[in-house]
Amino acid sequence: MAKRDYYEILGVAKNATAEELKKAYRKRAIEFHPDKNPGNKEAEEKFKEAAEAYEVLNDEQKRARYDRFGHQGMGGAGGGGGFQGGGMSMDDIFENFGSVFGDGFEGFFGGQRGGGGKRQNVGGNLRLRVKMTIEDIANGAEKKLKVKKKVKCTTCSGLGAKDKSGFKTCSMCNGAGSVRRVTNTFLGQMQTTTSCPQCHGEGSTISNKCGSCHGSGIMDGEELISVNIPAGVVEGMQLNLSGKGNAGERNGVNGDLFILIEEEPHEILKREGNNVVYHLHISFPEATLGGSFEVPTIDGKAKIKIDPGTQAGKILRLRGKGLPSVNAYGKGDQLIDINVWTPQKVSSEEKAILEKLAHSENFKPNPLKGEKGFFERMKEFFTE
Ligand SMILES: [Zn+2]
Ligand SMILES: [Zn+2]
Repeated sequence: MAKRDYYEILGVAKNATAEELKKAYRKRAIEFHPDKNPGNKEAEEKFKEAAEAYEVLNDEQKRARYDRFGHQGMGGAGGGGGFQGGGMSMDDIFENFGSVFGDGFEGFFGGQRGGGGKRQNVGGNLRLRVKMTIEDIANGAEKKLKVKKKVKCTTCSGLGAKDKSGFKTCSMCNGAGSVRRVTNTFLGQMQTTTSCPQCHGEGSTISNKCGSCHGSGIMDGEELISVNIPAGVVEGMQLNLSGKGNAGERNGVNGDLFILIEEEPHEILKREGNNVVYHLHISFPEATLGGSFEVPTIDGKAKIKIDPGTQAGKILRLRGKGLPSVNAYGKGDQLIDINVWTPQKVSSEEKAILEKLAHSENFKPNPLKGEKGFFERMKEFFTE
């Protein structure tokens, strides 16, 4: 399923201001709100879609990344592959409502997910940075991560109580988890369903709390998580491991784990998009006479030939020796930028030879007509 453009979802222009974004999002949130469209899956999808679009576009950094890389920049290949943009649950969406709608609106929508039914506890999301070397990026990498997180309490198996008899039906909501309330909003009088304040939506209270977790059903722990990071990822991309975050209280739903990609710079190979640049230094006699040279690439050494009379600044290309793209076929190239080394010191004997050579017609600079400047040369290589 292809993802729709975030600007299109909110119906705003690419240069929309923060105020315009907020206004557009409010309009859609009201239109597709689950309380107004009970049981309507399509409305719920649209509601989530709008929330995700707003979450990205309202964040300056995320918006810049989206403008540059599209959904891929958000880690959003959409469906499958483990990549998901935004990674917002309904609870995240409602949590953000306060900042979007201001006070007074929360009363209308309810602090927690409305629509009746018991609330399920959702564990917090976690964020981890993962370093990728250029070789990792070239081939994709399996990373094993030791993640410190909240896990199920081992004493009570996540129950929160010493045993099942400790749960009492909540007296305020009679176990429903939600209470109905009539509120006045600017849209008129509304009957809304909000989470029960006594049991926090769970429908029951605990009388004999577990001594280890004090009733939460979770404790500090860690998990070894193995994650396959695809080839071609870019600094700042985010991978969403659904359900690998903190455990939810009392056997609730796990939060998500977000993996943030960090590129580790290589000592000598530099990344430029999907191309890799290597600065080769050759001596003045080598540039004059030409020859064969060994250069490092991402997957071992490669031999290149340099023609006699090669000028400094020439760029050679090793096709397909660059990096793959995370969302497309094909690979970038390795570019070899040739530098000619000028000696920093010479013996008196060498100096005498050079002085003699300096008078030769062959050694006088003779730039060809129409020779390309530095920026033109670079442009030629990077726009192809
Ligand atoms: Zn209750
Ligand atoms: Zn416990």
